[in-house]
Amino acid sequence: MVDEEEMKWPAWLQPLVQTRFFVECKVHANLNKSECNMYCLDCMKGGLCSTCLASHKQHKVIQIRRSSYHDVIRVSEIPKTVDISGVQTYIINSAKIVFLNERPQPRHGKGVTNTCHVCERTILHSFTFCSIGCKIVGTSKKFQKQKKLSEEDGSEGEESSDRKSNKIQSFTPSTPPPYRIAKRRKGIPHRAPMGGSFL
Ligand SMILES: [Zn+2]
Ligand SMILES: [Zn+2]
Ligand SMILES: [Zn+2]
Repeated sequence: MVDEEEMKWPAWLQPLVQTRFFVECKVHANLNKSECNMYCLDCMKGGLCSTCLASHKQHKVIQIRRSSYHDVIRVSEIPKTVDISGVQTYIINSAKIVFLNERPQPRHGKGVTNTCHVCERTILHSFTFCSIGCKIVGTSKKFQKQKKLSEEDGSEGEESSDRKSNKIQSFTPSTPPPYRIAKRRKGIPHRAPMGGSFL
């Protein structure tokens, strides 16, 4: 069963969507233009800068671009072995692109009717996923099994209560309660080094 999952996508795709691009090259940090914005499909070893590229001349390399701080890739540069049907495409600088990963969207506009099946980002009607990353997740057996289960339980009600609990979690204060500090100060009887400027 593991094999089937792996066969569906070329081996380099998953590492590609997990790579952070547009960071300084670790090998060529001292050079100008050492930002990593290429990816070698043969080596699959993270982002490459233009200097790195010299040692991948015979390899298949694709260029990652940026659109509003997110990594995108030109559809024309994606090998045909990757099936991007269902993934929303955009036109940027007159080139058709897709996003590599989901982009968090905190709030939906009114009247939203179609969202990415994985991350719930608003997308056009004719599409299922907002990005290649979401398609990988959304077409995995694990995800589809979970989805089927929640559909069998049968309610949109459940989905919205899920969302609610997420919200509550994210509002939990991260600072420790103040009484802990007070207790500690009491417990350690030492003088302040600056002559007791606080009581
Ligand atoms: Zn290479
Ligand atoms: Zn480099
Ligand atoms: Zn998505």
